[in-house]
Amino acid sequence: MQQVTVLGATGSIGVSTLDVIRRHPDKYSVFAVTANSRVDELYQQCVEFQPVYAVVASASQAQALQSRCVQQGLQTEVLNGEEGLCQAAKAPEVDVVMAAIVGAAGLEPTLAAVSAGKKVLLANKESLVMAGALFIDCVRRAGATLLPIDSEHNAMFQCLPVTHGNGLSNVGVRKLLLTGSGGPFRTLPLDQFDAVTPEQACAHPNWSMGQKISVDSATMMNKGLELIEACWLFDTTPEQIDVVIHKQSIIHSLVQYSDGTTLAQMGNPDMRTPIAYGLAWPERITAGVDDLDLVQIAQLDFEAPDEHRFPCLRLAREAFIAGGTAPAILNAANEIAVEAFLHRRASFSDIARINETVLNKLEVWEPKDLGVVQKADALARQTALSLL
Ligand code: NDP
Ligand code: MG
Repeated sequence: MQQVTVLGATGSIGVSTLDVIRRHPDKYSVFAVTANSRVDELYQQCVEFQPVYAVVASASQAQALQSRCVQQGLQTEVLNGEEGLCQAAKAPEVDVVMAAIVGAAGLEPTLAAVSAGKKVLLANKESLVMAGALFIDCVRRAGATLLPIDSEHNAMFQCLPVTHGNGLSNVGVRKLLLTGSGGPFRTLPLDQFDAVTPEQACAHPNWSMGQKISVDSATMMNKGLELIEACWLFDTTPEQIDVVIHKQSIIHSLVQYSDGTTLAQMGNPDMRTPIAYGLAWPERITAGVDDLDLVQIAQLDFEAPDEHRFPCLRLAREAFIAGGTAPAILNAANEIAVEAFLHRRASFSDIARINETVLNKLEVWEPKDLGVVQKADALARQTALSLL
């Protein structure tokens, strides 16, 4: 029986993770669930899964949830804050941690799981973007197992040989092909970008996701963050990664080999597939996902990305190449810009503008330790806010 902590249990990935776990009560048991604002949903999860810990943001929320749990006769202990999240991530009983908090808030708890040598299912790409070198170093030192849950990286992982840790070129890999749907505005003319609403941006054509990643998909910052994520996960550089727009989201990414072979991982766009793969790896379990019906799909389309209309992809590549704290700066600016757009304090096109201005304005530092990364993150947030 594997004990699983689900960080960000009330979110889109968290709920899908619990759905897969629900299907396999003989294999997985929920050790901890965590939330930020959706405390009622977290309470329902406590009733169903009876975890050892539930974690909420504040002490007052924890007190309220604790009394509800006691009234219900549950043994669940309610913790709070970052300390509570880290405790749930690194507890000795825990085998697997699903890292599915959104944004920079996921960094410390994800690193706590990594430092404790857990099997970490990584959905929270922002943590790897912010602190890539420190993160990967920590995985190696702690002997943690890092499995990508982001569908594209999970696809690449599935198409790579198990020995790829020694460098992609050594196993005959020529290129990683990172696919993206192009988001809801794939064909929208640039002069209409300013009028886009948060509702339109969050209505992704293929995937149902949290608001932040939905907006990132619409600006294609998501593909940029994924480019950086792939560089760290597979120890490569942007030159070895081509972004391909594939509007149906059936091929989740591909690996091209030097002998002319190209391997693709395909499936319906449902995150329960990569989640189930991560949970069961190297085995396979059912995920509740329908089989792919190729005849019904009938057609798969591909095109090159348009970096003129979607500059965030270029910005991410530049940030990775600049190195140091540049990706953390870009990530932080983007979090502020997306939040402002969702609250109608910035236009859709402002997101790319703010990201570019902050990235170009701030000095890049050597990320010696987490403190430097956090300082760069804070300064970038402050700078982005001042632009608003
Ligand atoms: P959601 O917004 O749906 O969920 C985010 C989760 O994080 C919620 O449980 C939320 O709690 C919690 N959370 C938010 N802020 C904080 C905070 N400050 N402290 C602690 N917990 C917090 O996001 P998604 O599930 O869509 O995405 C999660 C991560 O997975 C992101 O990094 C995203 O990029 C990545 N990802 C998501 C995919 C998807 O299909 N959704 C695909 C690939 C990657 P609450 O709800 O209670 O407020
Ligand atoms: Mg993805």
